[in-house]
Amino acid sequence: MREKPAFSVCVYCGSRPGAEPAYAAAAQRVGRWIAERRGQLVYGGGHNGLMGLMADACLQAGGRVIGVIPKALVDKEWAHTGCTELHVVDNMHERKRIMAEHADAFLALPGGIGTFEEFFEVWTWRQLGYHDKPIGLLNLDGFYDSLLVFLNSALKQGFMNGGQMDLIRTSTDAPALLDMLVTEAKAGLASEKLRLDQI
Ligand code: AMP
Repeated sequence: MREKPAFSVCVYCGSRPGAEPAYAAAAQRVGRWIAERRGQLVYGGGHNGLMGLMADACLQAGGRVIGVIPKALVDKEWAHTGCTELHVVDNMHERKRIMAEHADAFLALPGGIGTFEEFFEVWTWRQLGYHDKPIGLLNLDGFYDSLLVFLNSALKQGFMNGGQMDLIRTSTDAPALLDMLVTEAKAGLASEKLRLDQI
């Protein structure tokens, strides 16, 4: 029987590799970090861009990878058939719900609009009380600096409050951020009340 993973992290990241090699290196680092600590990676199930690099690095280091992909994207995103479990689901809504249900924590790496949407969605779900799982944003080489400036401007302009900002963790260092998220997830698990099925 397969050993239960020590933790499960859902990672959102680019379906493209980005312009600098540092993005690929960080995605691979994240995959390996999860594997080396006997954790589980949950992601969108594609084999392209940072998504594929991260999943391959995790699998190669002996990690467990759950991919969740809508059937309409199986060819477009080049579904990763090497995943420990590949869930081919009916639509995007189901993909996001299954990914969230399998996660103890969420992490967004650099990416594009898909990554942004997923990050903001789990953040808004958390503020609404649909889940209580930690959320991290990897600000690799300042990739998210301008987003953070914009968010602070929305705060100053009275459209957000500090409590909302406190719901996310940001760091430029992938292992430090993963460590923080996993520690927080473990501390919160006993009291967690999940309501993701009500989304
Ligand atoms: P991107 O960051 O745009 O490269 O996309 C990364 C991943 O996000 C890809 O697997 C996309 O299929 C996925 N994605 C795109 N739009 C959405 C959405 N509305 N909800 C969830 N995932 C999405």
